[in-house]
Amino acid sequence: MRQNFTIIPLSNLDGKVDEVLIMIYDVTDEACAETSLERANSQLLKSSITDGLTGLYNRKHWENCLSEAYDLFRRNKEPVTLLMFDIDHFKHINDTYGHQAGDTVLKRLAQVVKKQIRNTDVAGRYGGEEFTIILRDANRESSFYVAERLRHAIETQIVEYNNPKVGGIQVIRFTISIGVCTLSIPAMPNYADWLKKADNALYFSKEHGRNRTTEYGLNDTEETMNIEIQRPVVKKRL
Ligand code: GH3
Ligand code: MG
Ligand code: MG
Repeated sequence: MRQNFTIIPLSNLDGKVDEVLIMIYDVTDEACAETSLERANSQLLKSSITDGLTGLYNRKHWENCLSEAYDLFRRNKEPVTLLMFDIDHFKHINDTYGHQAGDTVLKRLAQVVKKQIRNTDVAGRYGGEEFTIILRDANRESSFYVAERLRHAIETQIVEYNNPKVGGIQVIRFTISIGVCTLSIPAMPNYADWLKKADNALYFSKEHGRNRTTEYGLNDTEETMNIEIQRPVVKKRL
């Protein structure tokens, strides 16, 4: 039982308080209604920022986080890195095993991502089968290591999909291509530019065989940047 109470001092004829009146109210119903309203509000908030299929942040919220991470870097200069990755030949997975199986792969990928990153990192579903992670307090070397660890964790996954159409379990393996870009200002004058460079590196991974990680070259000036975009540094896998 939830209670509210009111205390009223009672004065005698001399004006002295020698008794108090305590009134206790049963406010259980109001309290329960308030709690369930709070719960509903927080669920609403959560679902407005979460991707329903994978449980990662949705694109809108993730981009807000990216913008914040960019602004924070301006102040504290702690290294922060962006990972962008995309499932290789995902259309083929859908075409071969069906859309439901594709969804199962997306869910598994999200589970692996959650396991591989720290609580302070921010993972989001950027598009259909394209994902992004903000790695906080992560420089080029450590980020490349994290990216390769993730890529390796994904390529060793075995998704066992119970396909009603074939009446049995099908084994699905999949890989991802990754682009990595550590934030550098003024080379990246806004967060959209940072994102673009990670995307360029991802594109490079796709163009050069898939299932690989490309790190965007950072030692470029404004003049060399375009050249760097066309030829990002490809590091050897660990
Ligand atoms: P690449 O290696 O170049 O990335 O090739 P890809 O086949 O992965 O890329 P493509 O862009 O050709 O196909 C992406 C596919 O992802 C097509 C689309 O139907 C599928 N897709 C997008 N969102 C979802 C989803 O939520 N569930 C499922 N099952 N498939 C999705
Ligand atoms: Mg793809
Ligand atoms: Mg794609």
